[in-house]
Amino acid sequence: MSSCCASVAQPIGSLLAAARVRLGNRHADSQDSENPGATSGLEADLLLAHVLGVSRAWLFANRERAVPAEQADRFWRLVERRTAGEPIAYLVGRREFWSLPLIVTPDVLIPRPETELLVQAALDFIPADAAWRVADLGTGSGAVALAIAIERPRCEVHATERSPGALEVAARNVDAMAPGRVTLHAGSWLEPLSGQFRVIVSNPPYVAAADPHLATGDCRFEPREALTPGDDPLAAIRQIVRAAPPWLEAGGLLAFEHGFDQGEACRELLRGLGYTDVKTRADLEGRERVTCG
Ligand code: GLN
Repeated sequence: MSSCCASVAQPIGSLLAAARVRLGNRHADSQDSENPGATSGLEADLLLAHVLGVSRAWLFANRERAVPAEQADRFWRLVERRTAGEPIAYLVGRREFWSLPLIVTPDVLIPRPETELLVQAALDFIPADAAWRVADLGTGSGAVALAIAIERPRCEVHATERSPGALEVAARNVDAMAPGRVTLHAGSWLEPLSGQFRVIVSNPPYVAAADPHLATGDCRFEPREALTPGDDPLAAIRQIVRAAPPWLEAGGLLAFEHGFDQGEACRELLRGLGYTDVKTRADLEGRERVTCG
């Protein structure tokens, strides 16, 4: 498939049409429920825009332009990798989160739109001009820490990460988007930090190791330790919730993401440990996602 299409210089429009068919077939017969056929056009656009170093709008405006053979080849190699299931975000090396064009690699979880709810929970609590200390535990790409640092420019934002590969990606994102605004620390959860924080946030792993969800879609390619803490899906959350109180200033906030069916258990956990004002927020589809105390 790829060699036949790359051998003649094709215009952008017909290259995209052929790729859409290839990607559409793959979506139609794969088990990949997160990517219905409707996304194949978008995916073809994203891959070609990436290879040519242009925007999707530019592709639209230049559909008759011929794609040089070398770039068409590179494009088809990406289409084939996508057909084999690799996440678009890893193929193009970027994923937008909170309007930030984050660098992502297979060392980090691909930021999800629902995690913007965690950012929102923190921002609703932090006044616009507050100069508070904020910590993000297990920051991965740095998505949550960066969004908060950018929205609350006077806050002192710290982020921890125990995976060296992820820490490197977070450092690149901080340098690119808000140099010096997020201090990164190598280590697990609160361990590498010092002092107290007014706000502690985290998107920890919370999917049970045996959950079939891990064998679907993008999850198959993401770092396991970012998705699952093992057999007990609440293990990481429990660890954070238990450890956090001495790290929180009086009147401070702990907010974390969890699975849609873990809200009740998380509220109980917080209340049992003496947290007050315990509340859970639901995402746009009404699923419980973020609990605060
Ligand atoms: N929400 C993600 C998923 O369902 C999991 C993210 C996480 O474990 N923090 O794939």
